Amino acid sequence: MEKLRVDLRPEEIPEYWYNIQADLPEPLPPPIDPEGGRRLELLKQVIPSEPLRLETSTERYIKIPEEVRERYLQVGRPTPLIRARRLEEYLDAPVRIYLKMEGYTYTGSHKINSALAWVYYALKDGAKFVTTETGAGQWGSAVSLAAALFKVKAHVFMVRASYYAKPLRRFLMQMYGAEVHPSPSDLTEYGRRLLSERPDHPGSLGVAITEAAEYAARHGGKYVVGSVINTDIMFKTVAGLEAKKQLELIGEDPDVMIGVVGGGSNWGGAFYPFIGEELRSGKVRRRYIAVGALEVPKVTKGVYKYDDPDSGRLLPQLKMYTIGADFVPPPIYAGGLRYHGVAPSLSYLMYKGYVEGRDYDQETVFRMAQLFAQLEGYVPAPETAHVLPAIKEVADEAKRTGERKVILVSFSGHGLLDLANFADVLGFGK
Ligand SMILES: *Cc1c(COP(=O)(O)O)cnc(C)c1O
Repeated sequence: MEKLRVDLRPEEIPEYWYNIQADLPEPLPPPIDPEGGRRLELLKQVIPSEPLRLETSTERYIKIPEEVRERYLQVGRPTPLIRARRLEEYLDAPVRIYLKMEGYTYTGSHKINSALAWVYYALKDGAKFVTTETGAGQWGSAVSLAAALFKVKAHVFMVRASYYAKPLRRFLMQMYGAEVHPSPSDLTEYGRRLLSERPDHPGSLGVAITEAAEYAARHGGKYVVGSVINTDIMFKTVAGLEAKKQLELIGEDPDVMIGVVGGGSNWGGAFYPFIGEELRSGKVRRRYIAVGALEVPKVTKGVYKYDDPDSGRLLPQLKMYTIGADFVPPPIYAGGLRYHGVAPSLSYLMYKGYVEGRDYDQETVFRMAQLFAQLEGYVPAPETAHVLPAIKEVADEAKRTGERKVILVSFSGHGLLDLANFADVLGFGK
């Protein structure tokens, strides 16, 4: 039988995370504080200390604490690597497509990979609780699960519009015992100010970040970050390190890497171990593709510059591809892709020309998601589904040139809690 699925044994969960900063040809541009230190001070106060230290570390491998590894196992790691044989047949091109299936974890995406680490380090600092922001609820539910497994309270500030429009993930968070607050809320000064200006404020990720950080700072909690920053992506490399082992086990070496970019964490988590190895050897020969939503065109039309990571302008500025902290994304269903910027580390790799950007519109993406569900039997998350048109482009090109390609895809999550969104766009919701 062909190798259609590659599994690792529980004890093969990686023992170390990988830090790409060890292999970059130069240090990343540091965060800057336009307010002369106030924002950096807040960051130091609210972010767990070990992740903050690791943010600028150039150690290549960081030991994964046993308490975290054990919980990786509990929530579904190692995840399988699955060959999308029926999609290959449909595309009728000389490609082999391998999907790293992060949707096999309990909350259905890669986000638990870092949530467990963040909560672990927050508790090491003696945090009374953890706070975070969430849009559609993927990150919030991962933090809620991690908090439950470490027996600590999570306060999740959920973008108000999603709080009401997307109740299922909120229920999941509540199931895990988290307190979920619609943001803007009256729990913070910033939230109260916004609500007094506009009582029906729909909220945004930027607003929720500001609230979560302020709430942690005021009440003895720690704020945990779900993407964008170096440490978060490093925590997520557990997926890429597994995928690397899995491909080695079957003697495959990928030529093309495809993943979606919200802030960049599933992308970096899956592919930094690969691109880092190439950077170390001095030559990047593989093709790396970062996919975004056409409606939020940061990977194709973003500008590489210092910008605020949050619209409340509470956190230090980062050098990144951005379409502006005040950009108001249209209400697309791939909530995880609505963020305005790209992680500084991934931005740097894009700027150096190692990574290509692509974006696709929601309608195209959702139609391909439905096709994929019928071919492979798996419903991808709306975010994840954005890889599908990119896979098709690479396959069509391989067909034209006749060159064989092995494609590794970061398959960030499943869409079983997003069916209402698919039904709406695909027209069977009535
Ligand atoms: C959050 C999310 C993303 C985007 O976030 P990244 O930090 O870029 O990975 C992509 N896919 C899924 C399923 C998500 O939940």
